[in-house]
Amino acid sequence: MHELSIAQSIIEIAENIARENDSKAVKKIKVQIGEFSGVVKEALEFSFDIAKVGTIAENAELEIEIVKFKSICNFCGFVLETMNDFNLFCPNCSEPMSIISGREMRVEYIEIE
Ligand SMILES: [Zn+2]
Repeated sequence: MHELSIAQSIIEIAENIARENDSKAVKKIKVQIGEFSGVVKEALEFSFDIAKVGTIAENAELEIEIVKFKSICNFCGFVLETMNDFNLFCPNCSEPMSIISGREMRVEYIEIE
């Protein structure tokens, strides 16, 4: 399960930060996930609750922010914000589109005690 390994990585990051700061507990973890990253929010929440048991993040709250998908045409500047219509090529001029946001998978901040 994809989300479980992500949850484990998030906890590892939190554990390292807590250790570096001589903290005994992680209070909160905020992550950003792109709409286009393939990560399912509910599955990640569920996985996090399993993965955190017995770790320094056992009582930590996980906040997930979904980052909207956005792509732009490098040639004509056409902006597409609907992921469902995305097909790598500009609907306006058929040049390749670049994804600006929506692929994120990062820990924004970690609160420790
Ligand atoms: Zn274009």
